[in-house]
Amino acid sequence: MRFDIVTIFPEFFDVLDISLLGRARKSGLIELGVHDLRDYTHDRHRTVDDTPYGGGAGMVMKPEPWGEALDSVLDDADDPLVIFPSPAGDVFTQQMARELSENAHLVFGCGRYEGIDHRVFDHTASRARVKLVSLGDYVLNGGEVAVMAMIEAIGRLVPGVIGNPASLVEESHEAGLLEYPSYTKPAVWRGIDVPPILLSGNHGAIERWRHEQQVERTRRVRPDLLDE
Ligand code: SAM
Repeated sequence: MRFDIVTIFPEFFDVLDISLLGRARKSGLIELGVHDLRDYTHDRHRTVDDTPYGGGAGMVMKPEPWGEALDSVLDDADDPLVIFPSPAGDVFTQQMARELSENAHLVFGCGRYEGIDHRVFDHTASRARVKLVSLGDYVLNGGEVAVMAMIEAIGRLVPGVIGNPASLVEESHEAGLLEYPSYTKPAVWRGIDVPPILLSGNHGAIERWRHEQQVERTRRVRPDLLDE
């Protein structure tokens, strides 16, 4: 799977060198291209923003560098999906991560300031599939953190990235429930026991207990998931 990211802060994505995704890149399961939007400007100050038409606070990202940057990423691409992180997009979920992981090539355009000139979305949609995706109902300073979260959630679903695929199946949100609580050794820590059922060796009873914990936890923390 290939990810391309257009951003004014390429160094944000240096952390993709480490951990599971770093290993997946080294083994070739994941390819990453990070593109500095300012490389597509033509003035001395490498300007990417300007004042908004119609007035108002803040600055808007100029369409010209975005057009050139996306041309350079999309020109040789085969059926890419372009994702613009935006608080006005569809909310990112595990289900969406799974659907997005079925694409061979995702391109992310990280907005900053008050966002990107809207013509960039319209023009990009005339040549590729485009999706606006929100991380949640709050406003970040830029799209980079949202893209990092999406790449981590999508990348770990790429076959081979997680050593034991069974661990993906049991996770929160996979079956519409939150995950059960997990414990490891020692059996007693600072006077707190591991639930005795987990030491019983009775696999059927452990499975039932874990399921009850999932339902109870979901009802308490996220009753909306049970309604769905
Ligand atoms: N003026 C915009 C609005 O009110 O919708 C917010 C712009 S925000 C300060 C700058 C950039 O951060 C956005 O263009 C987007 O790329 C990113 N961003 C902010 N909040 C986000 C969220 N909840 N999900 C995804 N991206 C977000």
